[in-house]
Amino acid sequence: MRAMVLTEIKKPLVLQEVPCPIPGPFDILIKVHACGVCRTDLHIVDGELPQPKLPLILGHQIVGVVEKVGLNVSKHQVGDRVGVPWLGNTCHQCEFCLSNRENLCNHAQFTGYSFNGGYAEFCVAKEDYTLPIPNDYDDLHTAPLLCAGLIGFRGLRLAGIAPKIGFYGFGSSAHLLTQIASSLGQEVYVFTRPNDVTTQTFAKKLGAYWAGGSDKLPPVALDAALIFAPVGELYLQALKAIKKGGKVISLGIHMSNIPSFPYHLLWEERSMSSVANLTRQDAYDYLQVIRKIPLKINVHPFPLEQANQALDSIRKGNVEGSVVLEIF
Ligand SMILES: [Zn+2]
Ligand SMILES: [Zn+2]
Repeated sequence: MRAMVLTEIKKPLVLQEVPCPIPGPFDILIKVHACGVCRTDLHIVDGELPQPKLPLILGHQIVGVVEKVGLNVSKHQVGDRVGVPWLGNTCHQCEFCLSNRENLCNHAQFTGYSFNGGYAEFCVAKEDYTLPIPNDYDDLHTAPLLCAGLIGFRGLRLAGIAPKIGFYGFGSSAHLLTQIASSLGQEVYVFTRPNDVTTQTFAKKLGAYWAGGSDKLPPVALDAALIFAPVGELYLQALKAIKKGGKVISLGIHMSNIPSFPYHLLWEERSMSSVANLTRQDAYDYLQVIRKIPLKINVHPFPLEQANQALDSIRKGNVEGSVVLEIF
């Protein structure tokens, strides 16, 4: 099969003909139709995440059709349409797995990081960690939901009751979450790169109540803020933007260092935290929510062979919405 392979950290992916994977007893083999490109993929390429499997096929927002099932597979049949997210396997035994926090599993394995993902014509996945995909969205538009959509949803839940919520950064994840939050009656305040009027206009079109540069404070104090961009300084801006008791939550797997700051920014029960991975329950709940709230998903498709250009477009931040590899 054709695959775009990361052979070495900090090097471009290489188009290779590699053997098609063989599903183990609890695995399914999937013919990949679309695979979303995530900022996490960029962090892996850049060597910002520890010890990826190498050589590696990236990609953890996979949509495709079951081509073959392993001996003990019982939940899937050949021809089923499935999605594969980032969380690829957990141990079921550690303190986190045993307390409904499998997203924090001590022995978790991740798609397109611990094992090969979807920047290829085929991939294998554990049947218990694949998701049933609603038919409301086609393959190309479903792919970004599987990480960008899901991680935003977990962040929104962790923020709790937040009538006024700030989003720092407006890429794939925030463009989806803005629509959900505003449909739920929340006022969404979007912060973009300073003077990025195009993105601010795009955010308002999708339901943002207010949009401005991340160097500005919002016109009113916010209940919570989610940070989507991997920029540590944004924690400080967000702490200044929230009310007493407010929460600032980062959604990225990696971010530049947070500069030191005076204690009064955190005083009065403001808090800082992060979202790590997802539970399968998050995914099931999210798939229900997006059936009730139809999303406008802005997708920029790239062919498999142009995965490096696709990654580059995320690095430059010059696309509105989600970047997806379309695989034929
Ligand atoms: Zn575990
Ligand atoms: Zn991701």
